[in-house]
Amino acid sequence: MIVDTAPKSARTVSRRSNSTLVTLRGVGKIYRTPAGDFTALADIDLDLPDHEFLAVIGKSGSGKTTLANLLTGIDSVTSGKIRFGDILLNGKSEEELTAWRGRNVGVVFQFFQLLPTLTVAENIMLPMDFCRVGRPADRRPKAMALLERLGIADQADKLPVDLSGGQQQRAAIARALANDPPLLVADEPTGNLDSRTTAEVMDLFQSLTEDGRTVVMVTHERDLGSYFTRTIELADGRIVSNTGRGVVA
Ligand code: ADP
Ligand code: MG
Repeated sequence: MIVDTAPKSARTVSRRSNSTLVTLRGVGKIYRTPAGDFTALADIDLDLPDHEFLAVIGKSGSGKTTLANLLTGIDSVTSGKIRFGDILLNGKSEEELTAWRGRNVGVVFQFFQLLPTLTVAENIMLPMDFCRVGRPADRRPKAMALLERLGIADQADKLPVDLSGGQQQRAAIARALANDPPLLVADEPTGNLDSRTTAEVMDLFQSLTEDGRTVVMVTHERDLGSYFTRTIELADGRIVSNTGRGVVA
């Protein structure tokens, strides 16, 4: 048996079947700016079970990215609580959150954000190196297996700049999955993809939720609705609709 000696917040949260992975209660976010305080999110209550494929929709400026950043711990709440498994994210230091995120959350951005000086495979090995997941000798084979799953294994030793937008987004998704996190958060991941690549990414995300993961996807593309188990709409930082067919576990 491998004993994980990492501090609790740096470990991968264990998953019970059909459990709630993330809980938000009364979550609010106020940005303090020189022009005054701005309430970007208010009174958000949300439960994210395993297998959920949640869409977050809403007009530009409605708070979607803010919500995504709170879920990933990239930003912190100004009120309310976010619980992830048995971990309360409130009050964690940036260092603790970084360690926690590395193991527990895959983050996919609209503009990929691959490191330009590393090859595609090296980009995917980076989170494994950073969190010291597995043996170093196993990391390249694992990166290659992920690239295989994403259909771009033949691009492994190229630099990101030599890939198409769709290939770069697949590489970014492979990187997000490097440490096998229970939660994937993607902010407009298909915003720059053609319709065929979009469908492939959506199929992949759906298959990840079938494996038990929870996927949260910010989107403004309403025609993707059929992929999701639940859709919440934000307006002025509040949830104004919450509709779903529920999770089939
Ligand atoms: P969306 O992703 O739905 O377009 P955001 O979450 O990015 O919305 O932004 C919600 C609101 O908060 C917007 O009015 C935006 O201008 C404001 N906002 C976002 N980030 C900051 C920040 N760092 N400082 C001040 N205001 C911000
Ligand atoms: Mg946004």
